[in-house]
Amino acid sequence: MFETIVALATPPMKSALAVIRLSGDDCFEIVSKCFSKDLKQIKKRTVMVGNILDDTHVVDEVVLLAYVSPKSFTGENSVEIMCHGSMLIVGEIISLLIKHGAREAKRGEFSQRSFLHQKMDLVQAESINDLINAQTSEAKKLSLFALEGVVSNLIKPLKSSLIDLISAIEVTIDYPEYTDIEEVNKEAIIQYVDKTIPLVKQLIEGGIKGQIITNGIKVAIVGKPNVGKSSLLNSFLNEEKAIVTDIAGTTRDVVEGEVNLNGLMLHLMDTAGIRESKDKIESIGIDKSKKSIDLADLVIVLLEASKLDEEDKQILEYTKNKKRIIVYNKADLGLHKKKQDGETYISALKGDIDELKTAILNIVGISKEDFHNPALTNARQVGLIRQVEELLLQAKNEILNGTPIDLVSAILYSAYQNVLDVLGESSDVDISKEIFARFCVGK
Ligand code: GDP
Repeated sequence: MFETIVALATPPMKSALAVIRLSGDDCFEIVSKCFSKDLKQIKKRTVMVGNILDDTHVVDEVVLLAYVSPKSFTGENSVEIMCHGSMLIVGEIISLLIKHGAREAKRGEFSQRSFLHQKMDLVQAESINDLINAQTSEAKKLSLFALEGVVSNLIKPLKSSLIDLISAIEVTIDYPEYTDIEEVNKEAIIQYVDKTIPLVKQLIEGGIKGQIITNGIKVAIVGKPNVGKSSLLNSFLNEEKAIVTDIAGTTRDVVEGEVNLNGLMLHLMDTAGIRESKDKIESIGIDKSKKSIDLADLVIVLLEASKLDEEDKQILEYTKNKKRIIVYNKADLGLHKKKQDGETYISALKGDIDELKTAILNIVGISKEDFHNPALTNARQVGLIRQVEELLLQAKNEILNGTPIDLVSAILYSAYQNVLDVLGESSDVDISKEIFARFCVGK
């Protein structure tokens, strides 16, 4: 029994139209109780125009789309009500529907229903959230691959080859009278692992890039006061978002901005620097800077001249284990030593930062082709495939150490379970609850 759920599917704000969505077993009965026409006899997808009624009082004139199970997004009977985009009207209609038996949908519950009714696998369902949140056309393209099932198709061969191997092993165990079969199968397992590991690695590497394309990267700009951090942020953003002055320590807090660098989303954080300070407010800023650096996927260390002072050294020391680019700013002043290979020189003030942009793309390692390759796109999926890699290697090691084949089969079975988990096909559907909680209501 699937309760009928209801939610506003469009943003909660004044607009020309709003869409209210319902799905569930009693969907048509519930809507019929407050609509001027009867939906209960509908046999196929139908568009209707009519009034939403609270008893005899007309709440709004609406267009209504009724989808008959299983031909709907969720696979259930579903209704989309297009009403006028007043939040008052939306509120009244949703309350009426709840009064007649619907309940408010939780985050991602429509997509979850779709998954539960096998309209899509978990990779596809997750991609809906990515699609809604995509900030670049490249990220959107990647989530569409997943939604279309192209990404699931990358994983399915792994699923079928694993289950084929496990079945073959089970046959060997169940029919021990074939004495020389075990040796052959041990060899077969090693061969399988050797053949499969490169494919698994490819999935993981693609997935790491997929996550970067989907989520972008966090970039902290660090350097001593007055080195040009705010100016750099501004020249990335082309606007006066960070306050630029020449009093040391002006950027007291972390100022943030987002920029699309050839399809790669940079979440930039301009920090207050990390020198020790007696000024209380400044030292709060400095703590925040350290946090930003710790959180960042990439740190841009800004230096002003070739000669480093104590503070530059402290910053270099603090960031030495981070992925970082060391950048010399104020190149326009001509103060720097002769440029060495691999060094990055910019003038934040003049907006001359192309070298830095190239250095970022290089260090992140995303190439143009990566934007066109279907890939896993989140940590859950990549984490599970990483475990598959470990389990496969463990299976091979156990074989080499002479572990009985039935125990090795159990390891391979765990790997298989992980693959099922990626697609949401294992019996443990509970994981989907947590996943769908990241969605917005109405999706
Ligand atoms: P922050 O404290 O590191 O954020 O530094 P700001 O961005 O506030 O810059 C401090 C001063 O340096 C300002 O007067 C800027 O105009 C100046 N400045 C920043 N970048 C450059 C640059 O590339 N060239 C020159 N000549 N001056 C710069």
